[in-house]
Amino acid sequence: MIDYQAILNTIYANVTQESDKGEIATYIPELSGVDPNRFGMHLKLISGEEFAVGDSEVGFSIQSISKVLTLAMAMSQVGSTIWERMDVEPSGNPFNHLSLLELEEGIPRNPLINSGAIVIADILVTQLKNPKADFLKYVQDITGDSSISYNLKVAQSEKETGFNNYAAANLLKSFDNLHNSVDDVLDFYFHQCSLEMSCSQIAKAFFMFANKGVCLRDVGRLTKTQAKRINAIMLTCGFYDEAGEFAFEVGLPGKSGVGGGIAASLPHEFSISVWAPGLNPQGNSKLGMLALEQFTTLTKQSIF
Ligand code: GLU
Repeated sequence: MIDYQAILNTIYANVTQESDKGEIATYIPELSGVDPNRFGMHLKLISGEEFAVGDSEVGFSIQSISKVLTLAMAMSQVGSTIWERMDVEPSGNPFNHLSLLELEEGIPRNPLINSGAIVIADILVTQLKNPKADFLKYVQDITGDSSISYNLKVAQSEKETGFNNYAAANLLKSFDNLHNSVDDVLDFYFHQCSLEMSCSQIAKAFFMFANKGVCLRDVGRLTKTQAKRINAIMLTCGFYDEAGEFAFEVGLPGKSGVGGGIAASLPHEFSISVWAPGLNPQGNSKLGMLALEQFTTLTKQSIF
């Protein structure tokens, strides 16, 4: 029997004494004021048990972690037709890479880079009656928590500075791979990135990826095959140009965001989320990666 709480406590003691906590993302002005000393971690086992340490109940900007949730919602809405509009190959590019270059003939390399997520946003804008409200409701439902909301200041801050995303959306439009207006799609995209959630809420939302597509409320949200595919995409594409390093060090499918969050799953075992706002040069949470590396080493649990 693994003593998860003792392991989380050990990790907390180890990583919070690191002097180099990485750099806070400042390119989205509204994110630059976050306290670099924050650290939280939350584990949810398939059995339902939960373990947590540090700031695990404090909300933060989930940013690109939202790309997994929009992908899941889009897959459940339109199934495999998604793959007519994007590929599933790793991009190998850093988080701040010009999204333009991640398109080939208008086809994004995968749904977890910005251009791919913008196409997913377009699919949801087409499918949903009230896209922003319906997506928020979906996240609240899979998490079982109606207090989750968008941070409108963060969404506005991104709208004012998201020139790369406007460029990518316009390029997609020129290739006819964006069916709604650039403004409508980016308004949705900036809101999804601005979702504010705690580690505890993210671990609950990601439970369905560990649980064969069935969410916390025991409702099937994805087929087993769709859950398998999303885990595969997270493993190969979830960490900008550091997916190989994350698989090597940690060995879990996951997704990071420039807010310093990481969400991960071990199929059939657990979902886990960690938050430490300082990023490494590749744009992934520095202490978050360290904490997850220690977690899979100390528990001897990873997909490998
Ligand atoms: N909203 C951010 C952007 O589009 C997401 C960045 C990230 O977490 O990768 O630049």
